Amino acid sequence: MENKFELQKTEKGFLFLPMKGSDTAKFGGIGVCDFCANYAAEGKLIPALNCYYCNDCFERWNRDASYYPEDSNYENRKAQYYLEILNNH
Ligand SMILES: [Zn+2]
Repeated sequence: MENKFELQKTEKGFLFLPMKGSDTAKFGGIGVCDFCANYAAEGKLIPALNCYYCNDCFERWNRDASYYPEDSNYENRKAQYYLEILNNH
């Protein structure tokens, strides 16, 4: 089976999963940006935060956030958790 969702990484090192708002239903979401609360037909899931952000908020967040390499184990575990849900439902 071909995996539909693929992990990507920002230049700072944050993992994210591009997806459609409707995809968030697979883990109980409703496609609403967790930052600005607007519906986002397309956005990005940030495993480390357990958040789905619209593209604008994602850009802003990635610009301002600091990446801590010591958090990467946690981040990877969360990312695999989401990937499993997304690719198996
Ligand atoms: Zn937003």
